[in-house]
Amino acid sequence: MERFRQKCADALTQILGEFDPKHINELVLTRNHTPLLARRRAMLITSRVRMVATVFAIFTPLWILIDWVLFDWPLWGWLAAARLAATAAFATLALSFRGNDQIGRARLALGLLLLIPAFFFVASHLVLGHQQVTGVAAVVATGYAFLPFVMVAGLAVFPITALEGLAFSIPLLMAHVIGAVIGHNVFPMGTYIGAAWLLLLLATVGTLAGMSQIQFMTQLVRQSCQDVLTRAFVRSVGEELLGIQVEKARRDGGPLAIIFFDLDHFKSLNDTWGHEAGDEALTGAGRVLVEELRGSDMVIRWGGEEFVMVLPQTDCEGALRAVNRILERGFGDRPDGAPLTASIGIAELHADGCDDWHSLVSLADSRMYQAKEGGRNQVCSCGDALLPGIGGKIHSATMAAS
Ligand code: GH3
Ligand code: MG
Ligand code: MG
Repeated sequence: MERFRQKCADALTQILGEFDPKHINELVLTRNHTPLLARRRAMLITSRVRMVATVFAIFTPLWILIDWVLFDWPLWGWLAAARLAATAAFATLALSFRGNDQIGRARLALGLLLLIPAFFFVASHLVLGHQQVTGVAAVVATGYAFLPFVMVAGLAVFPITALEGLAFSIPLLMAHVIGAVIGHNVFPMGTYIGAAWLLLLLATVGTLAGMSQIQFMTQLVRQSCQDVLTRAFVRSVGEELLGIQVEKARRDGGPLAIIFFDLDHFKSLNDTWGHEAGDEALTGAGRVLVEELRGSDMVIRWGGEEFVMVLPQTDCEGALRAVNRILERGFGDRPDGAPLTASIGIAELHADGCDDWHSLVSLADSRMYQAKEGGRNQVCSCGDALLPGIGGKIHSATMAAS
């Protein structure tokens, strides 16, 4: 079984190139999406929904002219009314959801974008299904039956998962079925049934294209957010993620701790043993932090030899425990064998009464400076308690203080 799984994974890697089969879940479900990917995806989906809605708001009413030329009154009148209603809905959608970065709202926007033409499709079939039209008018009337096809093919424009593709295709498939029942004047029933297969096929292709967009996006986000030397997040992305976490903690009232690390006497390491030795030490220290965090935590390389660790759902005591774990393992050694040490500041959003991530980081930074001034290789925790670092009896001291 294990060999079979490995073979499948190898085959997938061959097919998908750089894609790691471990991340296949990300293409099917959104559960494993990182907050950053979710946010970027929400922003992209929303902007594309608004763009498509704008295009539809412009072109939907223009077609009234063609209906007016080809169809008799009151048929063209009914179609014009449906078009004006759809135009109003598209225009409202194009003006809504401005600046949205929530994936739930992005899904709502995309759902609405698909529902508007689905309703228009059913409304137009209600009208056309009761009329006999011939010649060029009949050709244009059949064009109305293609709307669900255009919409499912349009799914390819959005970075969506397999499950989302399925969910978004259902209203369009249903619209097609309703069209088959009420629009027998537009096409014979058999044509609708045959076309349902084509619709399913297009929905699958559209969804696959959407999934490949997620894959591409995931790779881009991953590459652009990781610092090559330490594997921590780069600062620009880290700030964005920290902002998301602070907003979330403020909304749900959960704790959010951050730990500010600054390696001690790092310049002297560079000056004595060279920049390469410095890079090596930095890589080792960064790796320790990245490896010691939990799945929900993150490490940001804040500056040269400074790191910020973000711990959602963690209070001061929990952050101290994480610091303990790291200090027990150590940050690695300086080239002369002496342990690499750091001065550390801890702050917690609610306990320290911070309003935003700027004040939270600034407080942890100032506590880190207190640890520096206190002699380095120290931890300054919430309440400004100074505790010893590597080599000190941090365990008992920490727990007594917390
Ligand atoms: P302190 O204990 O007060 O923190 O002293 P320090 O020497 O660590 O602090 P300072 O801010 O004076 O110097 C930080 C040094 O970190 C400066 C620079 O030489 C080094 N540094 C920053 N980024 C890198 C890097 O990417 N690679 C290497 N090798 N060194 C770096
Ligand atoms: Mg520094
Ligand atoms: Mg330093």
